[in-house]
Amino acid sequence: MPLRTLLAASLLVLLAACAHAPPRNPLAQWVPSPNHGPRQPILIVIHATEQDSVRQSLHTLRTGNRGGPVSSHYLIGRDGRRYQLVSDELRAWHAGPGSWGTITDVNSASIGIELDNDGASPFPQAQIDSLVVLLDDLCRRHGIPRTQVIAHGDLAPTRKRDPGVLFPWKQLADAGFGPWPAADAGEPPPGFDPWLALRVIGYPLQDRDAAVRAFHRHFRGNETEMLDDEDARILHGLSVLNRSP
Ligand SMILES: [Zn+2]
Repeated sequence: MPLRTLLAASLLVLLAACAHAPPRNPLAQWVPSPNHGPRQPILIVIHATEQDSVRQSLHTLRTGNRGGPVSSHYLIGRDGRRYQLVSDELRAWHAGPGSWGTITDVNSASIGIELDNDGASPFPQAQIDSLVVLLDDLCRRHGIPRTQVIAHGDLAPTRKRDPGVLFPWKQLADAGFGPWPAADAGEPPPGFDPWLALRVIGYPLQDRDAAVRAFHRHFRGNETEMLDDEDARILHGLSVLNRSP
């Protein structure tokens, strides 16, 4: 091989190596340790694509929408078929601005699952069954608490509604996933503060009406804005759950 070709080949190998080297901080001396692994997600966010087909959503999630580039880790078709677009270990761009409890960069902390759904139709049983299988796999492999499965609308109540009022959260809870009020929690104690409970559960309260709409979508299947006695019972049941070890 001529010297020039050899040098060019060596340079390419070096460049390839650099492209895969993890970024290092020039403020510190690099003394690498072999004892590390990928960062672990601690939350799962359920979305509805609000589009017409898997084909359309696979395109959007590999390019972008009007707001810019978007992605999610998984997409599940109405027939239950699963697609993975981003490795679990990497940060997909599915959540956008929002928060859940103390998690303020939701994309960094979560796995995003899109469900093929036009935003107005019920979710077929095959799709929910497939989601439950995936949730079990993700919670098991990554050690994600099974209650840490929420709606996009929960973390971004002023911007998002998905997966919407038709998503079967009760069925998911019966399968062991997502927050659901303890059945034996009893009545809320005197002076029970529903707003504090909403905050403790995770809801961002910058816009209280939007937070209540999100809470109602998730736990009551409607989008009203007034808290009532039944809400207090549900919130008390959820708070009891949160105090459990
Ligand atoms: Zn979404």
